[in-house]
Amino acid sequence: MHSRFRRRACRALFACLAAVAAVAAAPALARPAVPEQETLAFVDVHVLPMDRPGVLHNHSVLVDGGRIVAVAPSLEIPEGARVVDGKGRAWLLPGLADMHNHAHAPQDQELLLALGITTTLHMGEAPNSFVGRMRHAVANGESAGPRILAALAVDGSPRYGHLVVADAGDAQAAVRLASRNGYDFIKVYNTLSAPAFEALAREAREHGVGLVGHGVKDVGLQRQLEAGQSLVAHAEEFLYAFFPEPSDADPNAAPGEEQMQGAISLLRRHGATVVADLVTYEAIARQWGRPEVVESFLRSPESRYLPPQMRVCWPRQGYSRRDGSLDARLQFLHRFTKAMDEAGVPLLSGTDAPSIPGLVTGFALHRNLAALVEAGLTPHAALATATRTPGEFLRRHRPELPLTGVVAGGARADLLLVATDPLRDLATLASPLGVMADGRWYPRDDLEARKAAIRAAYAAAAASAREAEAGAAR
Ligand SMILES: [Zn+2]
Repeated sequence: MHSRFRRRACRALFACLAAVAAVAAAPALARPAVPEQETLAFVDVHVLPMDRPGVLHNHSVLVDGGRIVAVAPSLEIPEGARVVDGKGRAWLLPGLADMHNHAHAPQDQELLLALGITTTLHMGEAPNSFVGRMRHAVANGESAGPRILAALAVDGSPRYGHLVVADAGDAQAAVRLASRNGYDFIKVYNTLSAPAFEALAREAREHGVGLVGHGVKDVGLQRQLEAGQSLVAHAEEFLYAFFPEPSDADPNAAPGEEQMQGAISLLRRHGATVVADLVTYEAIARQWGRPEVVESFLRSPESRYLPPQMRVCWPRQGYSRRDGSLDARLQFLHRFTKAMDEAGVPLLSGTDAPSIPGLVTGFALHRNLAALVEAGLTPHAALATATRTPGEFLRRHRPELPLTGVVAGGARADLLLVATDPLRDLATLASPLGVMADGRWYPRDDLEARKAAIRAAYAAAAASAREAEAGAAR
């Protein structure tokens, strides 16, 4: 099964990460300082509020103390406020959210920000320093990056590199540790035992920690959602833990269309949310059995932003050595995603970057938005998966969090300013005129300087790795 295979590949990846840790020691980056929170007015911009359909043309938006304080056709601008004039051409919308990634390098955080992403949900295997230190550094304005949320991944065995939860005692300890260490969610993984899963669900409920994750083979998504799991971490998990397994004769066969309704009814009945990460399965399908595709990923302009250790690891992932084609399953996932959207199942954008070859942090989210439109979602619905719906999902679990994913009074000042109408072409979102995160304004020059520093550091790291290799060969 691909699922099982995929997880083996992940474990190989982590062994590989350790082997090339030295390469990751990039030179110090010359980056701009983190801007202060300030009083700032966007004037004469077209606003996509995302808490309702449509556009607020030629509006002004006032930000103060990290919050949006007013949205109106015209505003009295406080003395001393900075003014960003959209001149009736620029568009302002909520900052984006990537609700499934594994990006924890400091450079990844700056890259996410530079690409308009102001909320990131790290879905497991982050080092303690990321959850314990980086998250606070960003929140305190010491480091540039999106708001960080994190899930602690737990599994039934150590084979995929996750924390092992074997019984009820472990489950209790894991949920307490997650909660004490600031994790926002518990992420369940494939090989948990049924009793361990049930105990995790109980403990998570008691401690108010959200339960998210994969399909657990011994439990199945039906029972998982009944027990309170609120998020399925990939749409494709339904292939592994809900739809009937394909026959041995055609292991890559797609489920029948008639299977979809059962999944949608289940999701609706429990109010569950799905990460619609079409880009993940698409990347896997593209490289399935085709090593030359992975090579082409490594030559793409985006790959200049790939942490050097991932450049070493991507070719070692095994998808490109597999047989057959996943195209039928990918097309099924497109139709399934559209059907979920039409049925009102809340969908979140996510990527799995940069773990899967081909998925570069940040860029992958924009590719996912495009894939959702290709699957038949309207641009507004696709945009909602990275704005309003993640905001609603997070507040359902953590009501104390500020409103995000909308341009509205009282919301956190996470905003994206772009040059053209995103609803005509979402690609404009990948080259912002500026990004505001937590009321800190990063104009385009600032973002470009950060991107240039990342490229320079990674190029230098690659050059010194080549030198070391040549030295070893001599
Ligand atoms: Zn993942």
